[in-house]
Amino acid sequence: MDQVVNFDFRKKNKIKKIIAVMSGKGGVGKSTVTGLVATTLKNAGHSVGVLDADITGPSIPKLFGVNKQKVFQTEDGLSTAESVTGIKIMSLNLLLDNEDDPVIWRGPILGSTVQQFHDDVVWGDLDYLVIDLPPGTSDVTLTVMQQIKVDGLVVVSTPQDLVQLIVNKSIVMANKLETPIVGLVENMSYFMCDKCDEKHYLFGESKVKQVLDKHDIPLLAELPIDKTLVSLADEGRIELYPKTNLEFGASFERMLLSEIDKL
Ligand code: ADP
Repeated sequence: MDQVVNFDFRKKNKIKKIIAVMSGKGGVGKSTVTGLVATTLKNAGHSVGVLDADITGPSIPKLFGVNKQKVFQTEDGLSTAESVTGIKIMSLNLLLDNEDDPVIWRGPILGSTVQQFHDDVVWGDLDYLVIDLPPGTSDVTLTVMQQIKVDGLVVVSTPQDLVQLIVNKSIVMANKLETPIVGLVENMSYFMCDKCDEKHYLFGESKVKQVLDKHDIPLLAELPIDKTLVSLADEGRIELYPKTNLEFGASFERMLLSEIDKL
């Protein structure tokens, strides 16, 4: 890790907008949605980077199939990995000798590591840097967001969550950081049955729309429980998903681009 910590502080990157993806808790699909946000922006013709700030559970390299790539120190800073479609990726996992090693660090070190990923990595010119935040709305998440000036927040929840609570927490966080909420993605909204081609709302009718309307927060997408998504994620080919689920892909692209344009 010394090689990261010893870098000079340099401002060499031109990043137009930073979008951070947050959730109320772990395991709701935050990293998956981060992957889909980055893919969607890339498909729309933008230059995109992904900063994996979910330091204790970094899963971004695997989603994009770059977990075997090596990053190295150049004269200008630390190089990134690059996905098949050209998305630049930085994650602590790319720096560990063994990607399965657990990372047991305390908040302040996590925060400064993430800041170095922002400052000391050779991102070059990017239209968007998408950040996969640590899960939840704890101090670690707040530290990360205070160190990097984020332009917009995407919130991820699932129908089982107390969505009102998650929305309230994200509003508090967004206000503290003076960062607008781009919108919310409801993950695992429904299950699409192969046999009857119908949407099954396993967790009952979602309350998300009512809650979001009350706060004027856009619903960016309802992402189904989908085994194709799981296989693509496992195979490191998440970038193919919007094209395999065109209904989701097209509507997410439309919503995301129009909301991000307002930032
Ligand atoms: P988080 O970043 O919130 O911890 P992940 O994105 O890592 O969550 O997702 C947790 C697990 O759930 C992963 O195995 C992922 O493949 C799976 N998953 C996420 N979203 C879906 C979905 N829509 N359908 C099926 N499985 C999903």
